[in-house]
Amino acid sequence: MELDPRTLALYTTAISALLAVLSLLYGQARRVYPGYRWWVASLALFALALGSIGLRGLVPGPVTFYGPTLLGVLAMLAILEGQRRFSGSSARTWPWWISATAIPLSMFACGPDLALSRAVGATGVGLLAFVAAGYFVRESPPRLRSASRWCAALLVAFGLVRLLRAGWFLYVGMGYDVLESNSISILSYTANAVFATLWGFGFMFLSAARVETELDESRESLRQLTRKDALTGLANRRAFFDDAGTELARAQRYRQPVAMLMIDIDHFKEINDRLGHAAGDQLLVIVADCLQRELRVGDFLARIGGEEFAALLVQTPAAQALLTAERLRAAVAALRSGASGGPPATTISIGVAVSADGSRGLEELLRGADDALYRSKHAGRNRVHLEG
Ligand code: GH3
Ligand code: MG
Ligand code: MG
Repeated sequence: MELDPRTLALYTTAISALLAVLSLLYGQARRVYPGYRWWVASLALFALALGSIGLRGLVPGPVTFYGPTLLGVLAMLAILEGQRRFSGSSARTWPWWISATAIPLSMFACGPDLALSRAVGATGVGLLAFVAAGYFVRESPPRLRSASRWCAALLVAFGLVRLLRAGWFLYVGMGYDVLESNSISILSYTANAVFATLWGFGFMFLSAARVETELDESRESLRQLTRKDALTGLANRRAFFDDAGTELARAQRYRQPVAMLMIDIDHFKEINDRLGHAAGDQLLVIVADCLQRELRVGDFLARIGGEEFAALLVQTPAAQALLTAERLRAAVAALRSGASGGPPATTISIGVAVSADGSRGLEELLRGADDALYRSKHAGRNRVHLEG
């Protein structure tokens, strides 16, 4: 088969029509993003543009002369609109419509000079392709950058070939024959074929990349949810065991001191019984906020049971851990406000266990802190005890 413009135009028609049908069927069977159907339409318009070239000889010359450019302009507009919807951009569309209308008008205006008219049409389509490429780069969601750049590069390459084609029209001068065979025309029709094929994959690639990104994001937010205590927003027991384990391993490696605080609200059952479960819940949130505020950024605080909290203090020797625990105790005791509507009087008891060189395991530290907490409770509550 000879590589002539008509064959290439017909191949492009067939491949873009086929890709348009396949992606339309895909879009009907699967959930697709906004803009997807505009991109399918761009493929269909591209198929029509190239198909109308094949009508040469069957319809009057001006039809095959203006038709492909008009359809090409519409295809570029469909790509732009698709991208605007896909990225949820609020870009204004009137500049596109004005430039898109200006292209055929300028072509008609240059009517008597056919070469100039074709050059104007090719330049217009090329510039629209550049504008679309710009939108793909600027308006793409951050995590779709590589897929968007791929589409943009494709549009830039397509636009460049259009400009080259325009230059050729001006340089050589052409008539109504849109199927003349020369090296630039072969290059142009080959570029059309390549563009149609790659663009069909381009927007599928972009959609697939977005599915993947959203899957990653929902997986991550699900993971965060399983680590969070729903009431107080603090880390839950599972997250505490994960993070504390990691932090203890680090302390062991660098032989750094760490401290474990076991914190329990005093007579919480009474508060529930007296004020109701909802007020109890509210108090849990208030105490959790208070504890979090009093700790340093690097320390881990978690709600590990009903009204029990644990805090792992990194790089903290015994003396400093006791001071911190005392500060927490005093802060919670000071929460009670005289004004009505403030939190009820509350106190906490704390047990402290320390690993001076980071060598103790998590279970051992928790047991030590729990024993110390038990002693705080027995000694009358609202106090701090160090293990041992
Ligand atoms: P102690 O000073 O010895 O710690 O006494 P306490 O009453 O705080 O201890 P106890 O373990 O007997 O009771 C804890 C109470 O905490 C019992 C339970 O109803 C309540 N509780 C546990 N989880 C929640 C919760 O999510 N919300 C509320 N409102 N109460 C809770
Ligand atoms: Mg309690
Ligand atoms: Mg308890």
